[in-house]
Amino acid sequence: MDLHIIDKAIKLDLRQFAAPTVWMRRDLFQLLVAVVLSQHTSDKNAMRAFENLERRLTAVTPERLASLPEGDLAEVIKTAGMQRARAKRLKALAASFLELEITPEKLAEMGVERARALLLSLPGVGPKTADVVLVNLGLPTFPVDTHIARIAKRWGVDGGYGAVSKWFMERVPPDKYLEVHLKLIQFGREICTARKPKCGVCPVSEKCPSRA
Ligand code: SF4
Repeated sequence: MDLHIIDKAIKLDLRQFAAPTVWMRRDLFQLLVAVVLSQHTSDKNAMRAFENLERRLTAVTPERLASLPEGDLAEVIKTAGMQRARAKRLKALAASFLELEITPEKLAEMGVERARALLLSLPGVGPKTADVVLVNLGLPTFPVDTHIARIAKRWGVDGGYGAVSKWFMERVPPDKYLEVHLKLIQFGREICTARKPKCGVCPVSEKCPSRA
């Protein structure tokens, strides 16, 4: 599969993505909150929940989030769904974040493997969440979400999270990891959709073994 074709064909609309939109403010805790709010929901719902939270707290800081009662937090973020579990997770995340004093500089200095291990030690942070945070910070990793996993499978790339991530990392220049990751998600939302993929207008249809 030639990923240059996807890179060229997809015009990235960053506003469709909660994590890079929030990371424009260069606040690591806010980025983590946005990524946790995006788990198992659309970026649109996650963004609405984040904006509600911002309205409530004025600034989304770990101190302010930790001091918000869990029930109130659940109410504020309910547009993201699973609000009770998510509120519990975010409260625990804020407490750990304060305790560990994590900064983008600290993560960059640690290198990708140790930085990922540190993020994975935080409540509510799994491999995909950790990689989304790291790639937004500019560290070399390639997160695999449900769209990317589905596209890869259609291209004949199978295996677990790590194997699929490695496959992309071997084919994309490190300075393009974030951009190509986002373009693949957009490609999965617009063309290689879960149901009825639009193979007739797909730019990589000639190279795809699953072309309908
Ligand atoms: S040809 Fe169809 S299945 Fe293959 S990548 Fe394109 S849209 Fe997806």
